Amino acid sequence: MSLVIPCPNCGSRPVEEFVYGEVPLVPESITDPDARDLDRAFMHGNPEGPVVERWFHAAGCRRWTTVRRDTRTDQVLG
Ligand SMILES: [Zn+2]
Repeated sequence: MSLVIPCPNCGSRPVEEFVYGEVPLVPESITDPDARDLDRAFMHGNPEGPVVERWFHAAGCRRWTTVRRDTRTDQVLG
């Protein structure tokens, strides 16, 4: 079963309806604006364990929701 995201407006919906909203922190040592944009677009943290994430319900209510999820099990914690 794929990941299900609880949307406060639409109820539990499949992850395919959402866009993941992490904005990675770019190290201060990277000063070139183009390199900073590349890092923001492609360098995600991918931490292991409980994380707080922002998801955009693109195929639903088009609102952001905050989800606490364990990345080891994909279990939504709240
Ligand atoms: Zn929604």
